[in-house]
Amino acid sequence: MNSPKSATVVEVGPRDGFQMEKRFIETDTKIEIINALIKSGIKRIEATSFISPRAIPQMRDASEVVNKILRPKDVFIEALVPNPKGGEDAAQARVDGMRIFLSASESHNRKNVNRTIEESLSGFKEIMRIAEKAGIPVAADIAVAFGCPFEGDISLDRLHRIADRMLELGVRGITLGDTTGMATPLIVRKTCESLLKAYPGLALGIHLHNTRGIGLVNVYEALSLGLTNFESSVAGLGGCPFAPGATGNVCTEDMVYLFHELGIQTGIDLSELIKVARKVEQVIGRPLPGQVMKAGARLDLHSFAIG
Ligand code: ZN
Repeated sequence: MNSPKSATVVEVGPRDGFQMEKRFIETDTKIEIINALIKSGIKRIEATSFISPRAIPQMRDASEVVNKILRPKDVFIEALVPNPKGGEDAAQARVDGMRIFLSASESHNRKNVNRTIEESLSGFKEIMRIAEKAGIPVAADIAVAFGCPFEGDISLDRLHRIADRMLELGVRGITLGDTTGMATPLIVRKTCESLLKAYPGLALGIHLHNTRGIGLVNVYEALSLGLTNFESSVAGLGGCPFAPGATGNVCTEDMVYLFHELGIQTGIDLSELIKVARKVEQVIGRPLPGQVMKAGARLDLHSFAIG
C-alpha cells in the first residue's frame, strides 16, 4: 500500500461528540479532557462550536473553553463557526483556525442550518472577512459528502461546484464529512481521487463515521490515496443525528492503533490516549463504541499467573 509515513489526527470529540450530549458537561470537565488529549500528543483539535446557546446549549461555554485550555504553540485549536456572530466570538477567543460548514445536499443543508446551499455560501463571505481581519485561517467542511440520508448519492459534479466556491472564498483546506456513515471504500476512492485531480495540492481532509461498521475500512482506503488528515473522536463519541443509537465518528484511539500498526507515525502516545477515552466514557456515563480502550493494544500482554 502506498500509504503516507505520518498522518495528522484531528480530534473532533469535544465538538462533534459533546454537542450530541443532552446533559450539560461541566466546563472544567471539558477543559480537563481537551488538556489530556493535548498531553497525549494530539496536535489538532476541534474544541468547540461558536453557535448560539439557544441552538446548542452544550456549546454555550465555547469562549471559556478556548480561553482556559492549554495552548502550546504546536497545537492547533479550531472551532466551528456557523455565522458572523460566531466568527466574531471565535476571533475574540483567538482560536487558531475557524471551520465553516455546509452540506453537499440541499435537503441536509436545509435540515441542518435551515438555508439553501447558496444562502450558506453567501453567508460565508462575512465570516471570511472577519477571519481575515483577525488573521485566522478558515477551513471548510462539506457534510454528507459521501451520501445524503434524504437524497442518496452525491454527484461529483455537485461536490466540485461546492469546492470551487469554497476555494474562491479563500478557505485553506476542505474536509469531506461522512456525516451519516454512507461512505464505502469505492465511494471514498472515486470522490477523493476526483477532487485531488481537480485541485492538485489541495489540503483534503476526511471525516468518517462508523455508522455501518466500515469506518476504519474507509480510513484505510483514504490512506492508500495518500490522504494525511483524518478526523475522529475519542472513545468514538458522537452519533448519527438521523439514527438514534447509531455509532458516530470513527474512534480516535482505534484509528491511532491502526496507524501505528501500519507504521504510520502520529506523534500520539496510544496508552495515554486510551486513558483519556476511558475517562470520557466515565464522564458520559454509558458505554462508548471505542474498541481498543476495552481490549488494550495487542502487545498489552496479560499475566499468565493462574487465579
Ligand atoms: Zn462527525
